Amino acid sequence: MSEAGVRFRNVTRLFGTTRALGTVSFDIPLGQNTALLGPSGCGKSTALRLLAGLDAPDEGEVSVGDIRLSDPGRILVPPHRRQLAMVFQDLALWPEMTVLDNIVLGLASSGLLTREERQGRAVQTLALCKIGSLQRRRPNELSGGQQQRVALARAIAVRPKFLLLDEPFSGLDLPLKISLLEDIGALARNEGMSVILVTHEPLEALSLCSRAVVLESGAVIEHGAWSEIFK
Ligand code: ADP
Ligand code: MG
Repeated sequence: MSEAGVRFRNVTRLFGTTRALGTVSFDIPLGQNTALLGPSGCGKSTALRLLAGLDAPDEGEVSVGDIRLSDPGRILVPPHRRQLAMVFQDLALWPEMTVLDNIVLGLASSGLLTREERQGRAVQTLALCKIGSLQRRRPNELSGGQQQRVALARAIAVRPKFLLLDEPFSGLDLPLKISLLEDIGALARNEGMSVILVTHEPLEALSLCSRAVVLESGAVIEHGAWSEIFK
């Protein structure tokens, strides 16, 4: 496994009496796109939130490379220091702001760039996501697919090592979804990002990812490259 990969070791997350994840262990290597695949309620979003640093496990360890990100009940590295970015199911765009300002403000919270650099990076990233012409619109003036590209642009503008996608493409028809996933695959290759895609649709997972962690009722039932999973 790559040195800098994600590692879950014996991770448990309970919500009251619900075992969202039960003693789960898996690795996600850097440099390969990986799907977290399984039916609704199996624990995919819980796992992604633990990785993003929005939540801490009850038991076990989450780490990237040599760096421990969280311990039981404790977030050791906060989300903005994890070199990852996330696109949520509901996109969470800021409705009162233009597309451009959505991206610029996303960058501001990373604290990495000067004001001019943020503006330049935002324009460049919108072009990469093929929505350069929509800069001055507001989210409610966009189609669903365009909104998804804005959310994607906001996430990749910080040039994260890991791009976390929590089923953001439900609601798109299949051809649109496949073309977006192909664009994301090309972006990830060119920018050196590894995608972690949460989905319940094997077709989505297959079109972007070379490997998967398959979850069922809070447990990992398979993980590895597709060839290992289909065996
Ligand atoms: P998935 O993303 O695979 O649909 P989740 O990780 O969201 O599944 O949820 C796994 C289980 O944990 C579900 O039974 C869900 O109802 C429960 N769960 C998740 N988050 C919470 C929460 N904040 N409070 C209570 N139960 C939760
Ligand atoms: Mg979910």
